[in-house]
Amino acid sequence: MPQNTPPDIPILPVGFPTGTQLINDSMLNKNTAFTEEERIALGLRGLLPPRVNTIEEQVMRVMGNYRRKTSDLERYIFLVSLQDRNQTLFYRVLTEHLEEMMPIIYTPTVGLACQEYVHIYRRPKGIFVSTKDKGHFSQILRNWHNRSVRVIVITDGERILGLGDLGAAGMGIPVGKLSLYTACAGIHPSLCLPVTIDVGTNNKALQNDPLYFGMQHPRIRGEAYDGLIEEFVRAVEDNFPHTLIQFEDFGNTNAFRLLKIFRNRICMFNDDIQGTAAVALAGLYSAMKITGQKLTQQKILFFGAGEAGTGIGDLMVSAMENAGCTPPRAREHCWFFDSQGLVVSSRKNLAEHKLDYAHDHPFISDFAEAVRVLKPTAIVGVSGQAGAFTPEVLEAMAECNERPVVFALSNPTSNSECTAQEAYKHTDGRAVFASGSPFEPAEINGKIYEPGQGNNAYIFPGIGLGVIASKARHVTEEMFLTAAGTLAAKVSDADLKKGSIYPPLNQIREVSADIATAAAEIAYRCGLAGMPEPDDLPGYIRSQMYQPVYQNYI
Ligand code: NAD
Repeated sequence: MPQNTPPDIPILPVGFPTGTQLINDSMLNKNTAFTEEERIALGLRGLLPPRVNTIEEQVMRVMGNYRRKTSDLERYIFLVSLQDRNQTLFYRVLTEHLEEMMPIIYTPTVGLACQEYVHIYRRPKGIFVSTKDKGHFSQILRNWHNRSVRVIVITDGERILGLGDLGAAGMGIPVGKLSLYTACAGIHPSLCLPVTIDVGTNNKALQNDPLYFGMQHPRIRGEAYDGLIEEFVRAVEDNFPHTLIQFEDFGNTNAFRLLKIFRNRICMFNDDIQGTAAVALAGLYSAMKITGQKLTQQKILFFGAGEAGTGIGDLMVSAMENAGCTPPRAREHCWFFDSQGLVVSSRKNLAEHKLDYAHDHPFISDFAEAVRVLKPTAIVGVSGQAGAFTPEVLEAMAECNERPVVFALSNPTSNSECTAQEAYKHTDGRAVFASGSPFEPAEINGKIYEPGQGNNAYIFPGIGLGVIASKARHVTEEMFLTAAGTLAAKVSDADLKKGSIYPPLNQIREVSADIATAAAEIAYRCGLAGMPEPDDLPGYIRSQMYQPVYQNYI
């Protein structure tokens, strides 16, 4: 819009909404912050209370209402409704109160919201494609109001957090993750598209719930399933070129398979496998600053050998190879314990993703015993099994380590392998602890520990921003490795002293900008970028970040 147009002769783009239509447009709405000039020119007089508010005053009003809510689910519903009404204000509130609101718009509350999704459902968000839409996916994507999509988060709802199959009710996850893309890395909301591919559900309670809004048949598998995923990927290529697709909360067999099929074909990654890996590796790098050890001195025992566990293991192996280990030697540093026991070579019918870690060693069926025998420097819980890190396990870790590293990453909080309090209590306060969902500070013998959260939000928004800004054709393993190092470098001595191996969430935009720059540098160096390299890449990346401030329309 021309800067010097007199306010009484506005020149608006053709089709720019006015009146009620403008107030109902969540991207453009400013509610009581519309100026006097805008109210006159855009047919808003009388539709709003007379006094003009600043965005700061609006934030104050929102926070007053937010803090009056009596449950986390109510806070979630309140924030989602605000997002539906006024996106600028929603993102302003979210970026200014990220630490307070992250547990609401993401784990743990988003898990509860997905479990209740069909009951609390108000307005549709994102795109649903389902088995009944086969052959029409491209046409459906054309129904999306915005043609500038650059990042899609898609789920098939089979493994929502650690909560299992929630079918089409898993939509809360792509919606929440994309809010974090905007809040944490400044990716403009209009570039983001949440998608649920509804291939049925095996969740009987949902199938029988009269309010369930998804397909009620059992999950389709095999060729029929693959055909739908392929159709979706092609529909994205047709409609939204240069779009990054983040696969999220797929069941583990499909997650590994789809990553293998698509990682070198399109621009995609799987956050549960690769994003988790980077955040956990960053945590290990920081923990080593406390333990004073080197990467090649680590022996990591994973409790859980699924997407998150073997994803972390694979990235740690890459990091060890970079540190000079051969691939077989690097893998010897990672051990896995799954629902059957220690993953060893004598076990039959191991899933493909575990085979590399099936070491020649006697089988052990008890986890505490595995800790006593293997003497790991770190245990990483990625099983979804609450309480699996028993006092016996933690004491065994404390016995063989001066500073035992304990990551209880399972989400939501109720699934965590141990609480922060337990980790510190059973190791005499010596544990270097991180969790997947946030924990309150813990007090042991008068000392306060403020544990960090191994939140993937430290990684995926930055990777996404770097990929989008450089129009990278693929997302590479090196990008995640570098992201881990970049994140760890942001942890200060003061953070470590408090017991946190991650930086405070209020620094996350800076973290994301640095990770984005590092990812884009890799895209340029590897010839994967789809646009000329800017002279000042870090400056360019930062200039692309959306700020939640109101634009002047007049
Ligand atoms: P998954 O289903 O792929 O894997 C779960 C693994 O746990 C399987 O190997 C299974 O054998 C094992 N397991 C189940 N019960 C067990 C038991 N009793 N004893 C030992 N092992 C057992 O799931 P996933 O994607 O790997 O996720 C696992 C957990 O990690 C979830 O709770 C998820 O929320 C969490 N997670 C956390 C983060 C994070 O904190 N940043 C990121 C991703 C996943």
